[in-house]
Order: sequence, then C-alpha cells, then structure tokens
Amino acid sequence: METAITCDYKNGVYCVESGYEGGGVASIYLLRDGNEAAIVDTCNNGALEPVKRAFSELGVKDGEVKYIFLTHIHLDHAGGAGLFAREFPEAAIVVHERGERHLTDPSKLIASAESVYGQAVMKRLYGDILPVRADRITMPRDGCEFRLGGRRVVCFDTPGHARHHLAYKDVSSGAVFTGDAYGMSYAELFGPEGRCAILTTSPVQFDPHAMRASMRRIDDIANGEVYPTHFGLLPTGGGVSDSLYRQLDLYVEAAERAEGDLDVIRASLRELFKEEASRQNCSCLASNFGRVTVTALELNAQGLALWYKKSRNKS
Ligand SMILES: [Zn+2]
Repeated sequence: METAITCDYKNGVYCVESGYEGGGVASIYLLRDGNEAAIVDTCNNGALEPVKRAFSELGVKDGEVKYIFLTHIHLDHAGGAGLFAREFPEAAIVVHERGERHLTDPSKLIASAESVYGQAVMKRLYGDILPVRADRITMPRDGCEFRLGGRRVVCFDTPGHARHHLAYKDVSSGAVFTGDAYGMSYAELFGPEGRCAILTTSPVQFDPHAMRASMRRIDDIANGEVYPTHFGLLPTGGGVSDSLYRQLDLYVEAAERAEGDLDVIRASLRELFKEEASRQNCSCLASNFGRVTVTALELNAQGLALWYKKSRNKS
C-alpha cells in the first residue's frame, strides 16, 4: 500500500491527503516531536483512516497524540473533530472560544450546512458529525503557547475569514498553519509555471478589514511560506502574497460596484480569477476552471454578497 504521508517537509511537519472531494483539496498536517504528536485540522470523518495510517508509518501511537489544533470550525476543517477526539483519547481539542459551542453541540452547524448543500450531499461529505465532550476542549488566548516534545506551538487570533479562526506557529520549524486566513491553493491551481492562490471569503462572517489585518500579522510571523489547509505548503513570494492583497481590494470593489448583487459579483470574481491566474503565471489554468475552484468562487461570491448586505445595514 502506498504511503499515507503526502509530503514530509523534513522539519517534523507532515502533510496528509484527507481524500476530501476526491483529493488535492484539504490537507491535514501532523507534527511530531519525540514521542508526542499533534494534528492540525481534521477535515471530515473519512480523513481519520489516512491519518491513522500516517501515524502508524511514523510509529506514533494513538495515546501519543497530545493536541488536535483546529484553525476554525468550518466542516472541511473540523467536521471530523468528534470522531478524532474519540480515537485519540489523550488529545486536547484546541479551538477558538467562539467555536467551542459548535463542537460540543454541532446541531446548528449541521443545519446551516444542510441548508447550503442539502441533506444528501452533507451526508456524503461529512457523514455523522459527532460532538466533542466539553472537558476535552481547550480555548487558548491569543499568544498562548503549547509544548509538544521540545517544540513550542503558539496560537494567533486571526479573524477575517471567520471570527472563530486561529492560526498556529510551530516555532521550531517556523511553519505557520493558516487554515483559511491566508488564501488557498488547491492542487488544481498548481501549474508547471507556479501556483495560484485565491482568497476564501465564504459565508457567513467574512470581514475584509479583519482579514487584511490577520494577513499582515501572518506576514510578520511567517518566513515567506504558509501552510494553508487547501492544500500543502505555499510559498508566498513570487507574487502570491501581492496577489492575495490585491484580490482583497478588488473583491471589496466588486461587491460595492455590484451593490451586493450575487450574479454580478459572481461574474466579476470569475474575470478576476482569470486575470490573477495570468498575473501569477498560471495562465495554463486561467481558462480551465476545475470543479473545486468553481465551488470556491461560488462560496466567495456568496460571502461577499452577505458581507455587503450586513455592512450596508450597519451604516
Ligand atoms: Zn473556512
């Protein structure tokens, strides 16, 4: 059987393919130091199997998994948290304080995802979402440190994509796990000439000002590369970082110009993606939207339309 470790970054950090949506979409990162290990994001229940295989290849026992760090509670990041918590009995489940109640009682999350995807798709993507017992959950403050073997992992409050978002920095390796706070780059956005990254502004809490501040903060703590959940290590030089900031400006402009009209925003984002793909030297992909990218852009358009509506209601 082939290895479950998609990438060994040679710094105690490993990427595991969750298998979500056919692959190349959601990575799970593993950290290992001595006889202690941690997981960053769980994806869905189906991701447990490759994670267990990866740990077995690394010689890590279930009881040696000390932390499950969740960047946020969107289901493609934390849908499997309840099942993972049962499987790794010693692990503390680390989550933003705003996400805790959805882990202990996922019924609201499930209902809201069912209203977007429909019950059948929800079942296929996530199966049965299990709750996490409250006594397993740790809610760190910004800057809080965790010990993993000889390593320190520091957490950072990074709102913008969602208010319940944390990023984590493994100080030893310098790896910064950014969840959805610093763009995404699916495998279908890797081209021979480079990689494209797109923002993720999905509903219901997108806030462009907070996102910009969080991205700046990540720039300060990362060394020219980030580990987003979607998908694998992303170097932020070579125009990727500039592109993400530019997209943020252009997204906001597009929503304002469209006065929140979803159809108009959707059309603008498609054009914008093509322009950015060509600027980022992913011209081969610019005219060839993959299945996943289309879904991502649709969610981005919905998140922007909702943000516009809320921001107008405020003023
Ligand atoms: Zn998300």
